[in-house]
Amino acid sequence: MENQERLGEDQQLTTHTKTYALSESEKTGQEQIMCLNCGRVSHNPNDVANKYCGHCHIFHEDTAPTTAPTK
Ligand SMILES: [Zn+2]
Repeated sequence: MENQERLGEDQQLTTHTKTYALSESEKTGQEQIMCLNCGRVSHNPNDVANKYCGHCHIFHEDTAPTTAPTK
């Protein structure tokens, strides 16, 4: 199956670092969210909607790097 029409909004690079990646499952076409912190992918619609990682227990949208490592 080919995606001929792609919404490019989520594909564009932004200036601030995202801690998640939205995509679609190749099998079901369901939206899924990958946590770039732990690498887990969730197909839970609530996780996708809230940009939530059930493994890290964080909301990505609100998780601007307030605790940036200072090395
Ligand atoms: Zn995570």
